[in-house]
Amino acid sequence: MTKTAVFPGSFDPFTIGHEDVVIRSLPLFDKIIIAFGYNSSKSGFFDLEKRMNWVRQLFAEEPRIIIDSYQGLTIDFCKLVNANFILRGLRTAADFEYERAIGQINKTMQPEVETFFLLTSPQYTAVSSSIVREIFRYGGDVSKFIPANMSLE
Ligand code: ADP
Repeated sequence: MTKTAVFPGSFDPFTIGHEDVVIRSLPLFDKIIIAFGYNSSKSGFFDLEKRMNWVRQLFAEEPRIIIDSYQGLTIDFCKLVNANFILRGLRTAADFEYERAIGQINKTMQPEVETFFLLTSPQYTAVSSSIVREIFRYGGDVSKFIPANMSLE
């Protein structure tokens, strides 16, 4: 059985914390699909196509990492792409409470899909897309918080 994990998120934008989760998880799965969840009524800060292209370029040399997008429920997307794992990162107790509820609901709805949690590397605990957006909005330097080979252009 191919071990496929979906890493769902808005990735608005993809940060060094997200990159860390993907790289550390790669040895555990055959394939990781970084799945940009979107909602037609809520467009996000950065354009979706741009966000996806930045990550596509970042992992261009790694055929086991795939970039995709979806609307609707993550478990429906998992079924569509034949994924048996959902990958999520945990930074804080607040993340844990939020993720626990979603993970348990997903498990009830789709028992064959397991959610796999990875604790953040300590140095990335404070990194979030919302903080990067805030710095960017006011013209600050975001380079320390996004992957080294990515630029928000
Ligand atoms: P969402 O909009 O679903 O919360 P995000 O794009 O903010 O999605 O994050 C996607 C996933 O990455 C979530 O599981 C989140 O907890 C995790 N994540 C975000 N920032 C970090 C970080 N600095 N370290 C580890 N995991 C992180």
